[in-house]
Parts: sequence; C-alpha cells; structure tokens
Amino acid sequence: MSKKFEIYAGKELAAYGFPEGHPFGLSRHDAFMEEVNADPVLNKITLHKPVLAEKNQLMMFHTENYIEMVQLKSKQGFGYLDTGDTPAFPGVFEAASYVVGSAVDAVNRIMSGEILKVFIPIAGLHHGRRDRASGFCVFNDCGVVIEQLLQVYGLQKVAYVDIDAHHGDGVFYGFESDPRVVFSDIHESGQYLFPGTGSSDETGINEAKGSKLNIEMNPGDSDVEFLVAWQSVLEFLHKNKPEFILFQCGADSLAGDPLAHLKYSPDTHARASKDLADLANKYCGGKMLAVGGGGYNLSNIKQAWAGVVHGLIDK
Ligand SMILES: [Zn+2]
Repeated sequence: MSKKFEIYAGKELAAYGFPEGHPFGLSRHDAFMEEVNADPVLNKITLHKPVLAEKNQLMMFHTENYIEMVQLKSKQGFGYLDTGDTPAFPGVFEAASYVVGSAVDAVNRIMSGEILKVFIPIAGLHHGRRDRASGFCVFNDCGVVIEQLLQVYGLQKVAYVDIDAHHGDGVFYGFESDPRVVFSDIHESGQYLFPGTGSSDETGINEAKGSKLNIEMNPGDSDVEFLVAWQSVLEFLHKNKPEFILFQCGADSLAGDPLAHLKYSPDTHARASKDLADLANKYCGGKMLAVGGGGYNLSNIKQAWAGVVHGLIDK
C-alpha cells in the first residue's frame, strides 16, 4: 500500500448531514468509517482531520451574495437553502465550509507532493451552483477545487469523472464553456431522475465544445451497461491526457438505493477507481482526489466507498 494515501475524516465532516429523517442524514460518515475500521487493509490508512474553508476559498466558485445568505440562514437555523430539498440547520455554514476546506487542503497537499491521493467520504456535493444550493448540496467542493487547480496551480487539463446516479449539474454548468475542464459523467437519464439534465448532446459550449461527455443510463441498468459506458469515459480521458483527476464516486448508483434506479454492484466503483488510479499514475504523476458524493443506503455506502479506497491504494 502506498503511504502517500490519506482519508479525511472526523466529526466536522460527519456534521454535514440534514436532520429529521432526511436521506442525506448524519450517519453516512460513521457508517463508512465503521467499514474502514473493520477492514484489515483500510484500518491502517492515515486519517487527516477536516479543515475549515476560508471565505476567499469559497469565493473561487461561489458568489459572495450566496455565501452570505448561507451564513445568515445558518445562524437562523430553519427554512430551506433552496426550493425544498436542502434544509438550513444551525451550523450548516460551518459544516459545508469543512467539506470545501478539506478538499482544498487535500489538493494543496497533493499539489505540493506531500501526498499522492486522497479520499473524502463527505464531499462531492456536485449539485451546488455558483449562486445557489441544490439537491442536498450547499457549497460545491468539486467546483471550488477545480477553480483552485485552474487559478492557483495554472493547470490546463483537469479531469472530473462522476459515476453518481445523478448528473453533476453544478460542475457541468459551472464549467460548460471552459475547455480546460474535461468533464465525464455517467448518470441515470434526466428523463427519470433529478436534476433532469445531462443529455448526451450536452458536450460543452463555444470553445469548450467536445470537452464534456454526458452518458445517460436507463433505470435498471447494471454493471454490464456501466462497463460499456465506462470504456467511452476511459477513451475520452486517454485522448485528453489530464493533469489531475477529480473522481465523484456517489454510491447512489448501486442497486437498492432509495432515491435512484440504477443497479450496479459495488464492483463498478472498485473497478472505476482502480482504472482512474492507473490513469492518474500514467498522466498526472499519481495526483487524484476522490470524493464520496451521494448514496442513501448505508450498506451501499460502505461497500462502494471501501471498493473505491481499495482501488486507489492497490498496486
Ligand atoms: Zn446522487
């Protein structure tokens, strides 16, 4: 196992979850960590404490007005941050800021060469828009770290790969006209599932045309259909030769998720992770960040994300 792999975990990340029976509840972090602790390989991995984001880091992707609105709603502690999916709770601003800060810190340490790869279970909040919350996502850590890689580190090709059941619309529309963001997303078709976007003819606009790959799956699709789609993603990545891979490995694409209708087995997540780790080793000097994303069945979260971590560390 590479010693240069870490997991970011701790109570500050566990606090990003919505109360009162919400599907994105407060047990997701601890369920995953239970699996880590029970696995003789995973329980040797170094855990890194969550890090709080500064406002200027949030502002790399989000508008100041939106950030201040979340801060206010967090103090009030009730109501919704969007039209009805993403509730405000006391401390939601800090919890969401720990998600982003942890991802930003991981990228800084990866880019400095201190570590090679990182997994953050509570992150990958891919629906968050630049100026609004959406679909359980307050601040979009993916959007922030992509901006960080472009603005701070001057990268010219950042790959975003998303196998969550839902389309990563916050990332897609956040960078729709930016050719430096090589976007690929396999998701259940928007005909059947939130957020309703991600049609295969959405390939980027203006000079970014062709830098985005959206692959729509049908309800009930399993590992067989996934592997066909996955070959297209791998070819797309080989063609684009990214300098960094950001992997959103939402576990809601597994069979038995209460919100989505795909039927992958945990093998898909392990396989995708291993293939992306190989690609990162080939093109990116090993540099890769994986973020947990969605997943509303705790047993699926354990299996999918444990598979991802094994894929990242196995030789
Ligand atoms: Zn999802």
